[in-house]
Amino acid sequence: MLAAIQAHSDDVTLFCAGTVAKLIGEGYTGYLIRLSNDEKAGKTVGQGVVQNEIDNQEAAKALGCKKAFSFYYRNHRMDDCAMIEIRQRLIFLFRLLQVNTVFAMDPYDHYDENPDHIVAGKAVESASWMASPGGGHEYPEQLKAGLKHCQIRERYYYCRSPQGHNLVNRVVDISSYIDHKVRANVANKGKGPAGDNGLRLRQELARQGKKLPLLGNDDATANFQYVKHFLMDDFRALGKQFGLEYAETFRYIGQEPDLRQAVRKYADGHAVPL
Ligand SMILES: [Zn+2]
Repeated sequence: MLAAIQAHSDDVTLFCAGTVAKLIGEGYTGYLIRLSNDEKAGKTVGQGVVQNEIDNQEAAKALGCKKAFSFYYRNHRMDDCAMIEIRQRLIFLFRLLQVNTVFAMDPYDHYDENPDHIVAGKAVESASWMASPGGGHEYPEQLKAGLKHCQIRERYYYCRSPQGHNLVNRVVDISSYIDHKVRANVANKGKGPAGDNGLRLRQELARQGKKLPLLGNDDATANFQYVKHFLMDDFRALGKQFGLEYAETFRYIGQEPDLRQAVRKYADGHAVPL
């Protein structure tokens, strides 16, 4: 069970959509959780919240997610929100959905200029730990109401700033899921560099009596090709470094060793009669 958490509707699609789609393709059930309302982030003034809500739902479908959630905190103001509330809402969802793998912005990517990214990463980091028994019996009323602890065993931290790419320890081959990633980005029509930009370029050239063969003969092809050929360059370059067609990179934190089990194993193997 994975949860891909993002501050904004285009974070997951741009930075980790290939890996999310790949894990879902391999058998994971996935959920997309957006923390902001993306207000003021629409290409048309006043349309941000509505269009980005639609985009978030459509991107989730393109990734193969079962459902998308939105918390609707105000865009670029999340550092003014109570961290403890964001954390608690995440703990609730992690327990409800029994999440064991999370994707989030790296909370230690100090060069990221967007305050929401750091807030989202920090909230996921602490919620991942506190939702589990190892983090204490936090919010016992949730447990009384029937929710169970969950165990977040894997954390994939993605980042936006180029500096952050130096702090990675996991490279994922997304070559066979690059088209999923492209489709998720095309779904982001309200904001970001993808959406309908391909058809806009096609229309602009047509007004000048020209066309780009790359963009094909219809709007859907134009949008797809625009994203694949102009916006996936970073991931093609990342892949090239590792002999792959396309790759995404992460600061990955895996399962901690089970100390109690290790002690039991040692005791079973070494105990002698009194
Ligand atoms: Zn963002």
